[in-house]
Amino acid sequence: MDILSMTFEELSEAFAQNSIQTFRAKQVWEWLHKHQTLDYDEMLNLPKTLRAELKEKFPIIACAVKGKQTASDGTVKMLYEMQGGDYVECVIMKYKYGLSLCVSTEVGCKMGCAFCASTIGGFKRRLTAGEMLSEIYLAQKESGERISHIVLMGMGEPLDNFDNVMRFISLATDEKGLNLSMRNISLSTCGLVPEIEKLMQKHLQLTLSVSLHAPNNEIRNRIMPVNSRYPIEKLLDVCREYTLKTSRRISFEYSMLSGVNDSDECARELASRLRGMLCHVNLIPVNEVSGSPFRPSSPERVKKFTEILEKSGINATVRRKLGSDIDASCGQLRLRQKERGK
Ligand code: SAH
Repeated sequence: MDILSMTFEELSEAFAQNSIQTFRAKQVWEWLHKHQTLDYDEMLNLPKTLRAELKEKFPIIACAVKGKQTASDGTVKMLYEMQGGDYVECVIMKYKYGLSLCVSTEVGCKMGCAFCASTIGGFKRRLTAGEMLSEIYLAQKESGERISHIVLMGMGEPLDNFDNVMRFISLATDEKGLNLSMRNISLSTCGLVPEIEKLMQKHLQLTLSVSLHAPNNEIRNRIMPVNSRYPIEKLLDVCREYTLKTSRRISFEYSMLSGVNDSDECARELASRLRGMLCHVNLIPVNEVSGSPFRPSSPERVKKFTEILEKSGINATVRRKLGSDIDASCGQLRLRQKERGK
C-alpha cells in the first residue's frame, strides 16, 4: 500500500519492517497528515539519507495541481493530475460556516446517469485513499484556509470504491491528522443497495445522500441505469432501515429535469413514497451539460414542486447553485477533451 493511504499503525509497522527508527513514523505521519506535506524534501527534521530511502521505498502517491478556475461567486475548481497521467477535478465552495470541498472518488464514473457529465468520458479507475486525501490537502493549501466540510459528490461513485473511501474517511477524521468532524462529511450515492447496507453496519455519523431523482421505477430507469439493478422499492427499504439503525436523517437529491420528473403528480408520488421517513429532499434544477438533452425546470415549477412536498410534510430545500460559470456545479465535473486525448 502507498504511504499516504496508510494508517499510523500501518506506517509504523512498515517502518519497523524496514528497520527505520520508531520515532520517525510519528514524524513522517505528522508531516503528511498534520502539516499536509506531500514532498519528503520538505520534511526538514529528517536526515537526507532517510529522505532518499523513503522516496525510494515509500513513494508518495498524490495528486498535483494542474489548474485552477475561480467563479464569480468565489467557488474554485481545481484540476489535479494523478501520477500516471489521469485527471480529476474537485470544487472548493464558500459557505457561512466555512469551506466545503466537493471531492472526486474515481476517475470518471461507470454508473451512467443520463444527465451527469462524469459519465461522458467513461470510467477509468478508482482513487486511492491517499489520492482523495491529497485533494483536500492541496485545496487547503490553495485556499490558505481550513477545509471544514467535505462532500463526496465529485466525479465517481463513492460506494463503488467502498474500501478506499472508508479508509479515506477514517484518515480524514483521524485526530492525529486532519481531524475532520464525521458530522461534516456527506457521502452521496446513486443507490448501490448492498453497499448502503455495509455502510449502515459501520454506524458512522456522516450524512448519507441518496441520488433519487425520480418518484418511480419508470422514470428512474430512464435516467439512472443503476435502477434496473436496485429498483426504487429496494432502495427506499434500505434507506428506511438506514435511518432506523443509525438515527441519521437521509438527504435525497432530486435533480429537476424539465418535463421528465418535475410534474405535480411526480411531487405527490414522491411525497407518498417518503412519508414517515426521517429524511430531507434537496431539489436541484439540473445543471446543463453540453450534449445532454435535459433542461432545468423553471423556477415556478421548482417552487410548485417544493410546495407540494412541504404540504405533505416532507422537508425540502432548493440547492443553491455555485460555480456554474466555470462548469463546477453538481454533475458538471468531467475530464476535458484536451486531457483525455493525452
Ligand atoms: N455518484 C454519486 C456522487 C456524485 S454526483 C451520486 O450519484 O450520488 C453528486 C450529485 O450530483 C448526485 O446527486 C448526482 O445525481 C447529481 N448530478 C449529476 N449530474 C447533475 C446535473 N447535471 N445537474 C444536477 N445534479 C447533477
